[in-house]
Amino acid sequence: MKRPGARILALWAAALLTVIAFAAAQAARNDQVHRETLYVFGTLVEIEIRGEQRDTALTATAAVGQVLQQLHRDWHAWRPGALNDLNAAIARGEAHAVDPRLAGILHEARRLSCESGGLFDPAIGALVALWGFHADTPPQGAPPSPESVAALVAARPRITDLHLDGTDIRSANPAVQLDLGGFAKGAALDLAAAELRARGIDNAVLNAGGDVNVLGTHGRRPWRVAIRDPFVWGAVAALSLRPGEVLYTSGNYERYFEHEGERFAHIIDPRTGYPVREIVSVSVLDTDGARADAAATALAVAGRADWARVAAAMGVSAVLMITDTGELLVTQAMLDRLDPAGEGFPDKVMVVDLPDAAPNPACDG
Ligand code: ADP
Ligand code: MG
Repeated sequence: MKRPGARILALWAAALLTVIAFAAAQAARNDQVHRETLYVFGTLVEIEIRGEQRDTALTATAAVGQVLQQLHRDWHAWRPGALNDLNAAIARGEAHAVDPRLAGILHEARRLSCESGGLFDPAIGALVALWGFHADTPPQGAPPSPESVAALVAARPRITDLHLDGTDIRSANPAVQLDLGGFAKGAALDLAAAELRARGIDNAVLNAGGDVNVLGTHGRRPWRVAIRDPFVWGAVAALSLRPGEVLYTSGNYERYFEHEGERFAHIIDPRTGYPVREIVSVSVLDTDGARADAAATALAVAGRADWARVAAAMGVSAVLMITDTGELLVTQAMLDRLDPAGEGFPDKVMVVDLPDAAPNPACDG
């Protein structure tokens, strides 16, 4: 018969082995990585899920894929679908019923546009089409005639012209043509992230060409992302995203065409009808993809002189802007989070203070 001491030792050893086996299983689970790439919204969306069983991750990714494909169909301004039908009804001066998700996104678009003072305005679809940025490939040839641009600007299409009565939509202005391209990616990734959460996924990243939503962490460390240098191949900075954060960049360096040495890019100033020139790239760090995406577009339109005011009005505080002369302008909240990636950075950045701004209650209607 064994001595009691030896028995206790054996029990301890067994318990320890169980703990080690459990920890090893847990570590293996945490190391599980599932990656998939989808083609939606005219871009590649990479999904990475960590720490889940393969089956759970596969089902969740498939569900996200379905959500994104459906949104792409429903929210596309220029292909047959729900938004296209709405645009046709608006042009005929008729009211039109849409699905609740589209109605919700239009509510959000109207609020964000109002907060931006109309610099982000998804009602300028006719201008986007006139410049040729409605197609999947960038336009070629000459810019539109100044007269045709002026005529569309004079019609003053504004998303604030929409009357939203539940899911019934009517526009006071038949010149309104909705193009959600300025924030659809953000709104869609927010819904995709919500789908993952609803399925119990705690740690994931959704990356649509550098526009990113994260859930949880990348194993023991945070998710890391880079901000592209718009002038050369590489990054200007990198940062670690906290659980639930998003980073969105709007820029002039990807979708544009050149004519007689001039560059015309896809972000249009609703006040002039002409593409934005001064700002080459705007990155917004936030916790809401739709707001970050809309703000990045609005701040590009606002330009050097006005962007800080518009950022404050839209409630975003962490911003990095790169101007056409290569200047880097940042808010302190962004600078605190950036890790240098480029030459001399962050020595050459200029810190810009944001003014105080209270949310405009008129924008909630
Ligand atoms: P990216 O697609 O590079 O992230 P944006 O988020 O700025 O860039 O979206 C640009 C798209 O938004 C354009 O292709 C067009 O469809 C639409 N758009 C252009 N100008 C505006 C604007 N002032 N307000 C709202 N949407 C805009
Ligand atoms: Mg945008």
